[in-house]
Amino acid sequence: MDSLITDNVQTDFKMLDKIRQLEKASAGLDPNTSLRRKMTAQAVDYAESFLYKLPEMNAFEADRGCSRLLEVPFDEEAGDLSDLLEMLDTAVICEGINAASGGQMGYIPGGGMFPSALGDFLADVTNRYSGISFASPGAAKMEQELVRWMAQLVGYPASAGGDLTSGGSIANLTAIVTARETQGIRARDVENSCVYMTSDTHHCIDKALRTAGLAECKKQLVPMDNNFKMDVPALEQLIQEDIASGLRPWLITASAGTTDTGAVDPVSEIAKVAEKHGLWLHVDAAYGGFFMMCSEGRQVLQGLDKAHSIVLDPHKGMFLPYGSGAVLVRDVKWLAQAQTYQADYMQDVRVTEGQYSPADLSLELTRPFRGLRFWLPLKLFGLAPFRAALAEKIWLARYFHEQLEKIPGWELGPYPELSVVTFRYVPEQGDADAFNERLVEAVRADGKVFISSTRINGKFVLRLAVLHFRTHLDRVDYVLSLLQRLLLHRQRCD
Ligand SMILES: *Cc1c(COP(=O)(O)O)cnc(C)c1O
Repeated sequence: MDSLITDNVQTDFKMLDKIRQLEKASAGLDPNTSLRRKMTAQAVDYAESFLYKLPEMNAFEADRGCSRLLEVPFDEEAGDLSDLLEMLDTAVICEGINAASGGQMGYIPGGGMFPSALGDFLADVTNRYSGISFASPGAAKMEQELVRWMAQLVGYPASAGGDLTSGGSIANLTAIVTARETQGIRARDVENSCVYMTSDTHHCIDKALRTAGLAECKKQLVPMDNNFKMDVPALEQLIQEDIASGLRPWLITASAGTTDTGAVDPVSEIAKVAEKHGLWLHVDAAYGGFFMMCSEGRQVLQGLDKAHSIVLDPHKGMFLPYGSGAVLVRDVKWLAQAQTYQADYMQDVRVTEGQYSPADLSLELTRPFRGLRFWLPLKLFGLAPFRAALAEKIWLARYFHEQLEKIPGWELGPYPELSVVTFRYVPEQGDADAFNERLVEAVRADGKVFISSTRINGKFVLRLAVLHFRTHLDRVDYVLSLLQRLLLHRQRCD
């Protein structure tokens, strides 16, 4: 007996010794107050010096291979924060698209508002789990209130609900899955089912259809009018033809601001067709949705409230840093029916009928506390400057279009309804596509501003997308003067 007790005591002693050793060896994971203060100060210094230099920084720097500096092994030993910040600067921040710059006018620009960084910092330090109300009633509520605010913005009734996602792609996927479930499209129905969109619909809708097992649906590309908007009589005709051939039309995806031209499909008219034939109407407003905040935008974005589901991208129109999308549905039940699950290991979580937690409406379970990066700037700045900034973007795009129209040789796309302008230079001789391709490359080589290109009706065109909260008149004027300078230079060279 005695020896057994002694053995146990010895085992215990060894085990406790081991545990204490491991605790000591891992203590570095939780720095103390003075270390933390020092680290925070270093990070803040870095952020401040970045923001200080930002107005003079280029919007684009060509790849010089700096990212290869990151090809170093992960050591067992601790590193030094100032060395690591140096590495961030030389290997990451120095090249590519500077998405924080007001010169960023390509694709759909992002944002990066400062209070969002504070929100992320605090969300990460406190690591509140916002997915389930039981885990953090406040974090869940903050996200629900943001969803409610967006639902009101688009004109949805109190029955609406939604989810904060990582971006527009996941938000669109969530909507497509919800549409599929609510419309009762089963695997065996897919081949006989039809979906309607235009060729300017964002590619993430195709990706979402495939991810949702719907790739074999018959995809009807509805023709567009001269302003690149879905042609509603053509939509109606396609649906009627499909019904007559025994197929099942079930989904229309419209765009409220296409990526290519910023065109807004006539949502109110499309909604009537959807209603008549019992189709789900999804509106991808990832780019354009937040223009509902200003009267210039509201004039264009009519009928969003008629859609069954809508996608918005706060990391575009609300100027948040990357990682914030949103999906809204007119009736929260649709989303809940597609996404709510129960599990034994979650039995401690009480679910009250009709009171959904964010995770009940999401593809995700564990997720970042995304609300704080959105809530903080909204509350801190108030809504008024957001409304003004969005209206400013529309007026800047109009201004750019009008200025360019005055200069001979430029062929312009439609007058902007939102904040995208498409344009190309038609030289007196030579291939216009190649000319414009060289032009966009020359803008990139200059680097002060960044614009992108696309193809419209097979032609190579340039596009200016004004959406960054730091893009103001001086930047747009710079694009105009740079284009003029490049053209003069070309003419001298030819
Ligand atoms: C940006 C965008 C998307 C994709 O959203 P991500 O946030 O990039 O995933 C989808 N549709 C439209 C119209 C967009 O502008």
